Amino acid sequence: MIIVLDPGIRQAEREALEAHLAGRGVAHRREPGPRGDVLVVTANPSGLTPEQLESLPGVARALPSATEFVHASREMHPAGSVIHVGGVTAGGGEFLLAAGPCAVEGPGQMEACATAVAAAGGKILRGGSFKPRTSPYSFQGLGREGLEIHRGAADRHGLLMMSEVLDREDLPMVAEFADILQVGSRNMQNFPLLKALGGIRKPVLLKRGLAATREEFLLAAEYILSGGNSDVILCERGIRSFDPSLRNSLDLASVVLLKEMTHLPVLVDPSHATGQSRLVLPMARAAAVSGADGLLLEVHPDPAGALSDGPQAILPEDLIRLSADLRALVPVVGRTFGAP
Ligand code: PEP
Ligand code: MN
Repeated sequence: MIIVLDPGIRQAEREALEAHLAGRGVAHRREPGPRGDVLVVTANPSGLTPEQLESLPGVARALPSATEFVHASREMHPAGSVIHVGGVTAGGGEFLLAAGPCAVEGPGQMEACATAVAAAGGKILRGGSFKPRTSPYSFQGLGREGLEIHRGAADRHGLLMMSEVLDREDLPMVAEFADILQVGSRNMQNFPLLKALGGIRKPVLLKRGLAATREEFLLAAEYILSGGNSDVILCERGIRSFDPSLRNSLDLASVVLLKEMTHLPVLVDPSHATGQSRLVLPMARAAAVSGADGLLLEVHPDPAGALSDGPQAILPEDLIRLSADLRALVPVVGRTFGAP
């Protein structure tokens, strides 16, 4: 349970309230919440109900939350959060398309991707210059050179730049170039990185860990939010299953559940969720009507020659085809997707 204190509560009232709670055996800790302090109840042996707690002076609301999502929970923010970045919004009813290659490989590849993303009505050009690769012998990304190429391509096409940050050391350099910082699945519980991102004034796209529960996912977001950065976008990117025939398994029900649990925008990444390009468009269409706030897709002008994740990359023309489908589909769930 979370007790939201009246924003105008006086010191004496707070002390009286805390003494009353202590008298009923209610153990709690005080935390700064999004709109003033909250008390997170850790033990409630006398079974006080939210209604009983709300009748106490100084209590604005008592939320029957089973978890500690002081910042991430929908209970704390009944309205969905809208994240504004460079004239683009996430979570505001406009369906957001973010696409680009897995890794930045060179100027020609980024130009081809940016042209396609802009033509498809996308707003964000993705691409990693610091890549989390399973093998240390695989292409690791172009580093600073990649960030420069990426920035140039995004700017030429009026797109925002989203790039992955792998660790705290890279953060200043990636933040110097990128508009949105991506935290990959393998780093969802890199707590020092999450804490550092809490102190940054740029939106963060946080991807669900390979085997993370929704609760762990939201607690990872909570690290960033409680650090002072309220601009967190979640991304469902498939979870590991027992079946090796697909890279991951797309957990679309999770979009619905997450939208109930949290006010944060939720994107879906059908590229990593399937690992196979022919499955990406069908799953992208399914995600569009699941109530997701947008899509994150991998596209490449030459998937066979891609330095990473080629098998799941769609072609530029596929992306443009998808944009026509999105315009038709997203109104079904009360979203809009603008014409390119
Ligand atoms: C990526 O977006 O290229 C990536 C590495 O994704 P994930 O962290 O979801 O595996
Ligand atoms: Mn990838």
